[in-house]
Amino acid sequence: RRAQEVIQRALQFQSPTRPSVKGRIVVESGYGAGIQDPDGNILIDLSAGVAVSNVGRNHPRVVAAIRDQAERLMHSAGLVNETTVALAERLSACMPEGLRGECFTWFGMSGSAATETAIKFAKAITGRSQIIAFEGAYHGVFHGSLALTTRENFREKFGPLMPGALHMPYAYCYRCFVDLKYPDCGVSCAKYLDYKLSTPNTGADDVAAVIVESMQADGGYIDPPVEFLQMLREICTRRGILLIIDEVQAGAGRTGKMWASEHFGVVPDMMTWAKGIGGDLPLSGVTVHKRYQDKLPLASQVITGAENALANVVALANLDILLDPQDNLIERAALFGAEIKAELAAIAADSAILDDVRGRGFFIGVELVADKATRKPLEPKRVGAILQRCEQLGVRIMACGRYGSTIRIMPPLTITKAHFREGLRRFAQAVSEVEH
Ligand code: PMP
Repeated sequence: RRAQEVIQRALQFQSPTRPSVKGRIVVESGYGAGIQDPDGNILIDLSAGVAVSNVGRNHPRVVAAIRDQAERLMHSAGLVNETTVALAERLSACMPEGLRGECFTWFGMSGSAATETAIKFAKAITGRSQIIAFEGAYHGVFHGSLALTTRENFREKFGPLMPGALHMPYAYCYRCFVDLKYPDCGVSCAKYLDYKLSTPNTGADDVAAVIVESMQADGGYIDPPVEFLQMLREICTRRGILLIIDEVQAGAGRTGKMWASEHFGVVPDMMTWAKGIGGDLPLSGVTVHKRYQDKLPLASQVITGAENALANVVALANLDILLDPQDNLIERAALFGAEIKAELAAIAADSAILDDVRGRGFFIGVELVADKATRKPLEPKRVGAILQRCEQLGVRIMACGRYGSTIRIMPPLTITKAHFREGLRRFAQAVSEVEH
């Protein structure tokens, strides 16, 4: 089999730090929500390439934009190119109200780079040095962004990381850190941040920013109570701390609004974005409120390959597709996502190991548990068996979460209803086979 041969070569020549290649799908081509391996096997991709191909892989308008731009210019290296300017303008126009029309953007090529940059900007703007993040967060893999990420296997061999990173509890209500129930809890997790900042020994005066995922992604596809983000905003404003919202995974229409933070009515001082904006090409950025423009040192943060014209025109095409009033993809995701959630909840009700279907739009999480009463996470081996069986049945599904036991459902926004339901049917079959 050709796929096996490719995997052998990957094992020999690629870094062992990349996601494991053994037994993995080799992807040769893709279209919409479909991917194909070199042996001709086709899978429904309910993960959209890790929440990246929000308009589907190789969208014809994206391919046409690439062809057209490739003839003219791709790399700009520090020169001014109008595609970058047009994208910065366009992003400003589709930011949440409060940033819309009142912001500027720095461009990079990965979510990690966006986090690193947001950290530096927060330090420069406030003259302070500490950054607060949340348990379960994923913000990136470099010394600053990894310090804000709580994934032990990513961190253990690579310390010491950036000093001054502190983690607070995220509103993971399914497994509340103090065993309370929303709304009776009064959103204690957000209050804990305020408490922590009011204790004299935390150096609260030195906190530059709070960085939070609007809806926590890798940490477990969590849809926090509305008050959680609202209280963080209030605490930050009251204490002169910047609020950075990471929309890398939840943004770009995935949750049924352009930005997930819009569900919560919360406006950040800075937003980091990546994945679905660049889609099939690597692109990320930090969009910052204009009032901070004079606080940043001139010409102080550059990446050689950034502002790539191909990535820019692809992002512009992606935004056109996402915001096209005819297809209405974002609203479709909100409505159809709610239907799918109800269907999944019905499947979960009949299963002893599927629990707590949650999320918004096409950002849906489902817990896999060994026991519904105790909510003990399903053993990694059984989760792995389900995912592997899914691949055999022709559906690509990914897990996430603090215990690797949350299934995240995040297909392209363009997926047909029939493909989405067929993908879930195969997933339900895999769960049932492993359960029984
Ligand atoms: N922030 C969030 C919320 C993410 O989900 C990710 C990627 N999983 C990142 C940042 C880092 O992005 P990248 O992998 O492009 O560096």
